[in-house]
Amino acid sequence: MKIFINPGHDPRVDSGAVNPNTGTRECDVVRQAGEMLADYLTNAGCEVKIMQDDDLDMVCATSNEWGADLFVSLHCNACNAHNARGTETWYKSFNGQRLANYIQSQIIRSTTTIDRGVKQSDGLWVLKHTDAVAVLVEMAFIDNDDDLEFMNANLDKIVRAIARGVTDYQGGI
Ligand SMILES: [Zn+2]
Repeated sequence: MKIFINPGHDPRVDSGAVNPNTGTRECDVVRQAGEMLADYLTNAGCEVKIMQDDDLDMVCATSNEWGADLFVSLHCNACNAHNARGTETWYKSFNGQRLANYIQSQIIRSTTTIDRGVKQSDGLWVLKHTDAVAVLVEMAFIDNDDDLEFMNANLDKIVRAIARGVTDYQGGI
């Protein structure tokens, strides 16, 4: 199975959300998570391609040309009020919902994060423009200090859970 991993944003030109107190940038956290996820999935026998780039047209085209079966985008959430917390996974298609459910439930089962559920969107660019079964994981709220601390302490657990969600989906086909 071919898995395309897309850490969101781009360290060169788009930091994504930033924690105002620590300066932690979403683009860096998701890049690290993406590289860890690539290792876990490669070890699980998947073919993996990883791309983080501001040009989402190119990201989607690369995934489509490669013939990815699954597309996993990694992000951190942000909320201006700084009081929202938790993990949510977005999907567009029917099979995307299945993959999102596997990933979300693995994260909920193996960490203490708040479960914000799986959510459908027709508007998210990478979900809309990829041929693969696609999901977008919002791992935690980077602008909430408690959630950031949780994410820093549990990044490996979160990433392993995402990898298990992918292999659960694979096993369920
Ligand atoms: Zn983002």
